[in-house]
Amino acid sequence: MDLLISKTTFQHCMQCPKDAWLKLHRPDLKGTFTPSEFELHLMEQGNEVESYARNLFPGGIEVSTKGEHAVEDTTRLMAERMPVIFQATCIADGFIVRNDVLKWNPDTNLWDLYEVKGTNSLKIDQKERDHVTDIAFQISVMRRARVPLGRAYLVHLNKEYVRMGDLNIEELFQIDDVTDAANERVTEIEPKMEGARDYLLRADEPRGGCDCVYSSRRNHCTTFQYSNAHVPDYSVHDISRIHKTKLTNLVDSNILSIDDVDPAAFDLSEKQTNQVQAHQLQKPSIDRGAIADFLATLKYPLHFFDYEAYAPAIPAFTGYSPYKFIPFQFSLHILQEPGGTLEHVEFLHQDFSDPTEACVATLRAAYTSGSVIVWHETFEKKFINENIAKRHPLLAPFIATINNAMVDLEKLFVEQHYIHPGFRGRTSIKKVLPVLAPDLSYDALEIHEGGQASNEWWRMLAPTTTAEDKAQIAQNLKKYCALDTLAMYRIFSHLATLTS
Ligand code: SF4
Repeated sequence: MDLLISKTTFQHCMQCPKDAWLKLHRPDLKGTFTPSEFELHLMEQGNEVESYARNLFPGGIEVSTKGEHAVEDTTRLMAERMPVIFQATCIADGFIVRNDVLKWNPDTNLWDLYEVKGTNSLKIDQKERDHVTDIAFQISVMRRARVPLGRAYLVHLNKEYVRMGDLNIEELFQIDDVTDAANERVTEIEPKMEGARDYLLRADEPRGGCDCVYSSRRNHCTTFQYSNAHVPDYSVHDISRIHKTKLTNLVDSNILSIDDVDPAAFDLSEKQTNQVQAHQLQKPSIDRGAIADFLATLKYPLHFFDYEAYAPAIPAFTGYSPYKFIPFQFSLHILQEPGGTLEHVEFLHQDFSDPTEACVATLRAAYTSGSVIVWHETFEKKFINENIAKRHPLLAPFIATINNAMVDLEKLFVEQHYIHPGFRGRTSIKKVLPVLAPDLSYDALEIHEGGQASNEWWRMLAPTTTAEDKAQIAQNLKKYCALDTLAMYRIFSHLATLTS
């Protein structure tokens, strides 16, 4: 069968035609398209949400075949007036759609379309990338395939829902009628659909088309380096918080390497200038006074602390709303006094139940007083602790004590009291640690980052995971989380030595 354009490919093409073309035509670049742990999590969550949403449509039949066979099965089920069809498939004019839910409406004698999204709201204002465009694409293809369509709905999660006991599917989801907006959008996107199809079906690789040379690094897709082989690995795109205008000026002046940047000529901010100069001089810049002042605020015993958490779309336990974090693990390294021996306390919940109370009890047993040192406090303080306090008012006073004792070690680096060319303008612990404590590394671990840790925890709890795998995952998780807090201790020690 010829290449068919799906709604995902179309939306991808609207975001970046070049990247969409490469994904379709360059299987040899497959390695660069490997989804991140975060993207994997989103995909899994999307599938899970869809399977729960099907409970809103009892008696539905799924079209499980693919391609032309799926179209034949869909046609047959529609002719039989099956009340609800999941994954109904239509192909027309080089486009393919698979609907989440198609429901026969006996009052109108039309098929109503339901699109399920694992988001907390309807996204209507993002032009090509929003949910309305997604549905408009489906309407356009189904009309071409002569399906008599009625209303169009978006089914998404209700962020106000709080699970109490068993899941209440009706309350968990919200259904928005988007018929009018989607019909309006059809007119708007149909010329774009034709354009996308022509572009994506061309056999020769499109020349240029990679506009991200004018965007900062975090906006680049994984094929940026392929399309822009002339851009150095560490380039002007890595200048922290660089505005598009300044970046455009640099690129249009043919300045790509940070070595070639004159900060004054391009009106870089003080922090950007510091980053550039640290690289050009290959010399760290350390404000020992500011670091000493910061360290002087710490109160012993010092607690180097880090949570790991998982945020499922479907609330797993009582008290949780969609995408609220479940604190399943922490690591705590404790230094009772300057030069003392480092103690380690850890918590890892290994059952399918809410870990919160056991987690807080373990923390309470380990903490009496002193500073709680974290890296990037928003996560620990706001996303975890404040939600624990809301779910468990009786734990709120202790949680407030911990939050009040919290000190964010990353701030020293964010505020540039320590600049090192090796940080490359970044302040994450994964960037700072290899420079300040090169003997410690995440590379040798099975788990390398927080997203992977949370996905692994969820996998550990799955009933299909063997006891042997569960034990291995638990060990990997403990090693990963312990390294996060040991890393903080080592960075602290490095700073203390510098200022002693
Ligand atoms: S880096 Fe940007 S412009 Fe280039 S292919 Fe990727 S998304 Fe497209």
